[in-house]
Amino acid sequence: MSRGVAVVGLDSAGGAQLGNQFAGWTVEGQTIVGIGDTVASHGLPPHSPPPPMVEGADWFTIDGIPVCRAGDAAACGHTTTGRSWFTID
Ligand SMILES: [Zn+2]
Repeated sequence: MSRGVAVVGLDSAGGAQLGNQFAGWTVEGQTIVGIGDTVASHGLPPHSPPPPMVEGADWFTIDGIPVCRAGDAAACGHTTTGRSWFTID
């Protein structure tokens, strides 16, 4: 599986990625997502309040916080999509 980096605005884990803790760190002009960043409420019944991302690359971090890639999960169990050309395997 390609583990492309997840970014706000283009990727989702059930709901849209909302994170902004890595403001200034971007791919395709969109902020990179890390553990603790939240996903928009989604699903039926809703996966809310907005669940945080709980999985990431332990060895690829920004300010010590793991970056999220395709296949990493939010607290609700949904996994995120990622940018296919920028992979962190
Ligand atoms: Zn969910």
